[in-house]
Amino acid sequence: MQDDLLKVLLTEEEIQQRVAELGQEISRDYKGKDLVAICILKGAMHFMADLTRHIPIPLTIDFMAISSYGVGTKTSGVVRILQDLDASISHRHVLIVEDIVDTGLTLNYLIDNLESRRPASIKIATLLDKPARRAVNVTTDYNGFTIPDEFVVGYGLDYNELYRNLPYIGVLKPEVYK
Ligand code: 5GP
Repeated sequence: MQDDLLKVLLTEEEIQQRVAELGQEISRDYKGKDLVAICILKGAMHFMADLTRHIPIPLTIDFMAISSYGVGTKTSGVVRILQDLDASISHRHVLIVEDIVDTGLTLNYLIDNLESRRPASIKIATLLDKPARRAVNVTTDYNGFTIPDEFVVGYGLDYNELYRNLPYIGVLKPEVYK
C-alpha cells in the first residue's frame, strides 16, 4: 500500500496529538450538556473512535452512512443516505464527526437534514479541511488540519474502499487513480 503513496502528509503521531487536543476542547465546550456524537461512515470511523476516547464526559454515539462520491475522486454533489441514525436527536446537542470537508456539499446537505429534526444545536468536527475547492459556505467548529488540494487516503479515508486501514494520511500517486 505504501508504494501507492506519493508522500505521507500527516503521521500517526501528528494525528493522535491533534485528535487529543480536539477532544479536550470538545469536552470543555460540552460539559453538562446532552451530547450525541454522530460518526459519518465510513471515512470518519477512526477519527470518531480516537476522538471520543479523548472526551471524558457523558455522550452517546450514533452513525450515519452517506454517499457523496461514487467510485473515483470527484464529488458528484448528490448525497444519498445509506444508513440513518438509530435514535432521535430532538433537543440534544449534536456533534457531527466528519473525515474531510472538500466542496462542503455533503456537510451542507447533512446539516439541513439534521436541522429538520430539531436538535438543541449542531456543531461540526472534521479531521481535515480542504478549503481550496469549497463550493458552499460551511463553517466547521473543530478542525484537525487544513490541507492543500490533494487527494488523500488513510486513517479512514479511502480510494475505491482501499487504504482506510493506514494509520497515517498520505497523498495517493495520481497514476493510481488515472
Ligand atoms: P464534499 O462534499 O465536501 O466535497 O466531500 C466530502 C466527502 O468527500 C468526504 O466525506 C470524503 O468522503 C470525500 N473526500 C473529499 N476529499 C477527499 C480526499 O482527498 N480523499 C478521500 N479519500 N475522500 C475525500
